[in-house]
Amino acid sequence: MKLLVTGGAGFIGANFVYYWLEKHPGDEIRVIDALTYAGNLENLRPIIKKIKFFEADINDRAKVHDAIKGVDAIVHFAAESHVDRSIFDPSRYWQTNVRGTALLLDEAVKLKVPRFHHISTDEVYGELPLNSDEKFTEKTPYSPRPDNLYALSKAEADNVVLDFSKKTDMFITISNCSNNYGPYQFPEKFIPIAVTNLIDGIRVPLHGDGRNVRDWIHTSDHASAIDLILEKGKKGETYLVGSNNDRDNKYIAERVVTLFGKGLDEIRHVPDRHSNDRRYAIDATKIITELGWKPKVGRENFDDGLKETIKWYRNNQDWWRPLLKRRAMITDDNRAISAFITLDRETGKTKFIFGRFEEKDKSEVKKSDLKEHFVEENLVRHEIVMKNLRAKKWYQDSSSMIKEEIDKLALDPSTFGYVEDLAARADTLVGDTILRLTKIVHAEEKFGIYGIATWFEVVDNKKEMRSEGFYSWGWGPKSGAKLLVLVRRKGEITHFAFQREQKFPAGGVMYNLAGGFPRLNESVLDFIIRSLKRDLNLDVRNNGVTLNEIISLGRVSPDTGMTNNHPNLYAVIVDFEEKKYPEVQAGDKFEENVGIVLWPVGEISEMVNKCDDSYFLAAMARLTLSGIYTINLSENSRKND
Ligand code: NAD
Repeated sequence: MKLLVTGGAGFIGANFVYYWLEKHPGDEIRVIDALTYAGNLENLRPIIKKIKFFEADINDRAKVHDAIKGVDAIVHFAAESHVDRSIFDPSRYWQTNVRGTALLLDEAVKLKVPRFHHISTDEVYGELPLNSDEKFTEKTPYSPRPDNLYALSKAEADNVVLDFSKKTDMFITISNCSNNYGPYQFPEKFIPIAVTNLIDGIRVPLHGDGRNVRDWIHTSDHASAIDLILEKGKKGETYLVGSNNDRDNKYIAERVVTLFGKGLDEIRHVPDRHSNDRRYAIDATKIITELGWKPKVGRENFDDGLKETIKWYRNNQDWWRPLLKRRAMITDDNRAISAFITLDRETGKTKFIFGRFEEKDKSEVKKSDLKEHFVEENLVRHEIVMKNLRAKKWYQDSSSMIKEEIDKLALDPSTFGYVEDLAARADTLVGDTILRLTKIVHAEEKFGIYGIATWFEVVDNKKEMRSEGFYSWGWGPKSGAKLLVLVRRKGEITHFAFQREQKFPAGGVMYNLAGGFPRLNESVLDFIIRSLKRDLNLDVRNNGVTLNEIISLGRVSPDTGMTNNHPNLYAVIVDFEEKKYPEVQAGDKFEENVGIVLWPVGEISEMVNKCDDSYFLAAMARLTLSGIYTINLSENSRKND
């Protein structure tokens, strides 16, 4: 058989190629991979002569054509796969995961490839409650959290695959698998971070309370499941793959540390990361009973799987050490500012380091990294949102007038976020079923910012009906971002930068963080650059101020009971050059009654007490607890005056 593996230079793809070569030595294997930051030809080095390798993007039709021609089957792993990175570079996720998948299928149909297997994830089902035995099955409706762009794009990719399966004769199958572990995993994911940190004497970061649960499967078990689906799977079917090995992160950290031969004080608690779903668990009954799959490592031999993985990372330091220095790049629309996404080993979180686009950086960056950034992100997102919405029973059962109104709101950039929130609302909440949306009431337009009251008809499990509503304003939950701006001089954080503004709703002049609502087609990076200029007069495109680092601090709801406005928080670190801002010295206060305020970090206690911007307080709390950045808050602080 001639088999094409997409994304075969990535973690699971490479492991699958090794598995296949051993199990089916007579077969011809082709691999197509764009070698993004996560792809690594070194993963295939020992067997590179036994396969045909095509370095290409799956969006490159001509190259895809060459790679596909004459194959009997395609196993499609290629994807952008890291949730944290998707926060900053969402367009890449749509481009590869959704559009790339569609192009691949289209070309496969044209070339009459008989068999296509699509690799997906359990994240498309959303999250499960912690204290329940519920597991995902093939019948679970898709409900990825809307802010987990990785999951959203994979869900849409699955929809694309199912569409092709219905509309063409190609024999297509899908598998949705749980968290994989094993050799060749990029050292930005939980188990490799833990092991590589231990090797280097760095403590193992454990996010949040450590109770988040994942179902861990060894890559060899995943590979055997795919093999079986290719052999015996039924046309058009989906199979869930997991080894009944749901464990919380604390357990994983403790097992890794113990099997490594160290004490539990090697675990360091750090605040949770953005979009960290509580629990995923898979019921793999279908593949076990219908196809006879049996994981070899599974739950029973999990310790052995972990031991073998630890040993692999110990013995293959030449493989992972260079990867620690690897950075993925994003740029602003003007290509003037580049950001490198990189791992902070201490906290296990992704950092965004900024700098001007310099000659020396160019050599590190492949051409393919530069193209297709921020392209039509929101147009694709519009399609996804509308698809999600139309899948909801409550939406289907709403009146045509309401549907028409929502269609209109989805096309208006200022209310798109509102519709995005609606699309994420599941048919059922705890004990309640949403029957339909009954009323959308708008505040007067002349207020300049939209305000919408939304009313649903709801029935509880005693069959009692009631109305439920909420009020949203601005952009709804995708309501942009608030920025805690930290000013750095000579390597030291010296000031917070606020705006002081007259705020009508609050009825006074207030300290206010920069930020607000992005434009529909605006990238996160461009939005931040624009907000710094507009709100604080900090022009990072010109000399004197440099955008240095952005740390994602998650989302905060100002009032979970009333509104659904739910912006992201970021800490933004800007460097002030000595020449341009000689007057801003550490400890000095720079305050305009209305305008920019530079507040010395040493006087933080005064600001915490007088500033009633809850986003500032939340951002400060999250940043200081995150461990990702240390600010010397006590320096120069006034004592009891
Ligand atoms: P990975 O990031 O290690 O590998 C992805 C590979 O795809 C890389 O080699 C990368 O270079 C390649 N790639 C990315 N964009 C491409 C493009 N546009 N064209 C061609 N190649 C491209 O990811 P992984 O963890 O090995 O995941 C592989 C697949 O398995 C993904 O589809 C992922 O959604 C799915 N999955 C992963 C897990 C997990 O635990 N890692 C669990 C379930 C499902």
